[in-house]
Amino acid sequence: MEKEQPSQCEHLARIILSAEEIKNRVEVIAKNISDHYRAQEKTGLVVVGILRGAVIFMSDLIRQISLPLTIDFMAISSYGGSTTTSGAVRILKDISESIEGQHVLVVEDIVDTGLTLNNLLDVLHARKPQSLAVCALLNKPSRRKVEIQVDYCGFEIPDEFVVGYGLDYAGHYRHLPYIGVLKPEIYR
Ligand code: 5GP
Repeated sequence: MEKEQPSQCEHLARIILSAEEIKNRVEVIAKNISDHYRAQEKTGLVVVGILRGAVIFMSDLIRQISLPLTIDFMAISSYGGSTTTSGAVRILKDISESIEGQHVLVVEDIVDTGLTLNNLLDVLHARKPQSLAVCALLNKPSRRKVEIQVDYCGFEIPDEFVVGYGLDYAGHYRHLPYIGVLKPEIYR
C-alpha cells in the first residue's frame, strides 16, 4: 500500500527537500563517513551533535554509520527568535566526556555565516582531539563570513531561511520530516 505523504505545513512557502531526498542523502553521507574512518583506521569515533537543530539529522545519520561510535551533545547560543546571527558563541551545555585523543565528528544542522562553527571548533581544538571533522546537513556558502571546512555536507542551499527536519523558527517546525522555506509573513 502507498504510504500517505504528510501534507505541507501551511506556514511554508514551499518544500525544498523532501523526506525521501533527505533520507537518500543521509545514507550516502553515512557511507562516506564509514568508508573514510575505516580506511584511515581511525577508531573510537565520538559524534558530537549540536543541540537542538542537529538532533533529527544526527539520529538518522548515526544509525547508518557502520562503525563503533559514541555520542555526545553540546548546546550553544544561536538564533532564538530572530533570523540573523550575532556570531557570539556561548556554551549553554557542554559535552559530558573528554575528547582528548579521540576522533571527533561535529554534527551541525546548517552552516550559514560559519561564525558559530568557527568559534565552536576553536573551543574543541583546544581540548586536543586526535582529529576533528564537521558534518553539516545544510550549507549556505553564499552567506559565509569565515572560512570553514565542511568535511561532509548534505545539501548546498540558497540564501533563504529554512525550517524542518530539526531546524526551527522560534522553537517551532523541528518535527517536520522535510525542509522548507518559511513564508516571510511568519517572521516579519
Ligand atoms: P552561523 O553562525 O553559521 O551564521 O549560524 C549557524 C546557526 O544559525 C545554525 O546552527 C542555525 O541554528 C542557525 N541558522 C542559520 N541559517 C538558518 C536557517 O535558514 N534556518 C534556521 N532554522 N536556522 C538557521
